[in-house]
Amino acid sequence: MHQHTLKELSVLLDKKEISSTEVTQALLERIETHEPTLNAMITVDNDGALEAAKHADAAINELGGTASAGKPLLGVPLIHKDIFCTEGVLTTCASHMLHNFKSPYDATVVERLRAQGTVMLGKANMDEFAMGSSNENSHFGAVGNPWQTDRVPGGSSGGSAAAVAAGYAPVATGTDTGGSIRQPAAFCGLSGIKPTYGRVSRYGMIAFASSLDQGGVLARSAEDCAYLLGPMSGVDPRDSTSVDQPVDDFVTALDGSGLSVTVDSSGDAPLNGVRIGVAAEYFSDGLDKAVATEVRQAISKLESLGASIVEISLPNQHLCIPAYYAIAPAECSSNLSRFDGVRYGHRCESPVDLEDLYKRSRDEGFGREVKRRILIGTYVLSAGYYDAYYLKAQKTRRLISDDFAEAFKSVDMIAGPATPTTAFARGSKTADPVSMYLNDLYTVSANLSGLPAMSIPCGFADGLPVGLQLVSNYFKESELLYVSHQFQQIDDSHQQRPRGFE
Ligand code: GLN
Repeated sequence: MHQHTLKELSVLLDKKEISSTEVTQALLERIETHEPTLNAMITVDNDGALEAAKHADAAINELGGTASAGKPLLGVPLIHKDIFCTEGVLTTCASHMLHNFKSPYDATVVERLRAQGTVMLGKANMDEFAMGSSNENSHFGAVGNPWQTDRVPGGSSGGSAAAVAAGYAPVATGTDTGGSIRQPAAFCGLSGIKPTYGRVSRYGMIAFASSLDQGGVLARSAEDCAYLLGPMSGVDPRDSTSVDQPVDDFVTALDGSGLSVTVDSSGDAPLNGVRIGVAAEYFSDGLDKAVATEVRQAISKLESLGASIVEISLPNQHLCIPAYYAIAPAECSSNLSRFDGVRYGHRCESPVDLEDLYKRSRDEGFGREVKRRILIGTYVLSAGYYDAYYLKAQKTRRLISDDFAEAFKSVDMIAGPATPTTAFARGSKTADPVSMYLNDLYTVSANLSGLPAMSIPCGFADGLPVGLQLVSNYFKESELLYVSHQFQQIDDSHQQRPRGFE
């Protein structure tokens, strides 16, 4: 049962060839078997999942199937990143600060997917407060990559990625502030999409850097991403940054309908008419040679599908990491000031006064990387350094955005590597934060400019998956999904399974 994609499960549930209870039970057993090796979950909600599955089965019987009711997700199991608030089930953000936190409400993403009849199996491990690129910053311990368990699964949505790659669930939610969906997708051989900033509501999604944070999906195929992303998307009155723009039908877009470029998915050149930009800056020194080779081959495959490949330039690419690592910590230091030991979360024992309560609760509650970010953020925002660091970073952010705007005058999307290397060994970068930050070399620019971006598997280097990143213009998620889906018709990288987790 764990081998089915979301789409396949949906069809089987519709025909009543399997029940939601059966598949939920099977997946819960699988989680139990593999958790000692992977540690991809923070909370497994056995009872809640079986209860939700029972309801889904009753609804399927009543409706006579899922398809007729237009509810393709009815009875489909999934896993939420532990950054999304779930009423009645712990939401820890992988922090000791929130180790005992039960939200009184559901995040909009959780609520909307629940309303579709999905079955939440539990909450995935992650880097604490989504800060990290390896999932080694979790209060609940590191996560193994199913492809090689002594390698990292990427971060911060590392638990979501390892869980889907190991067959715990066909899909999982994630969030991406600087690459946290795309980088783990690349490391674990998955398809992951970060939509346009504002496409998915951030209500109930614990804030890291509010101008960059965006929810999205990790799945085994672009097709499955399309199924889950649709119901998650759309304006939400409870998030003023969510955008009031019609949401495309991502599923029908897989066949080319409703795109702003004209394509013919029935022929042998389904990408005819799609202009794909390739930037020399993405193939610079930092990129591993074997990764570069796989990505270049994938770009050739896109060309063989009819896409025209256009050379473009992103001249400010080298400024992305410095700009991101000033802006993200600045926003983090502000957002995380709410964890004060007073209203919720961890509180120190016997405080002598209010200052002691704040100081010790925060000292005990936050891990090292979170503290480092708060310190950096407070520093770049402080009176004497604001202009030199924060303001400069904001100006740089504009230059980075302008580069994309210029590029999108001549191309529909940009293709390149998702990550500089494949999954690295656990422990190999923990002592050097800068080398860890450099993992985000190709991903942070989409967040800085708010653009939608996706990573899909495009080959292997030394047995580890390689990710191809596609970035498109605002609100063109449909085009990313279409191109990725067409690529997955002629490339089987996304169908490979890690040994021991087939
Ligand atoms: N690795 C990046 C960071 O640590 C991105 C994290 C994310 O996207 N949440 O900030």
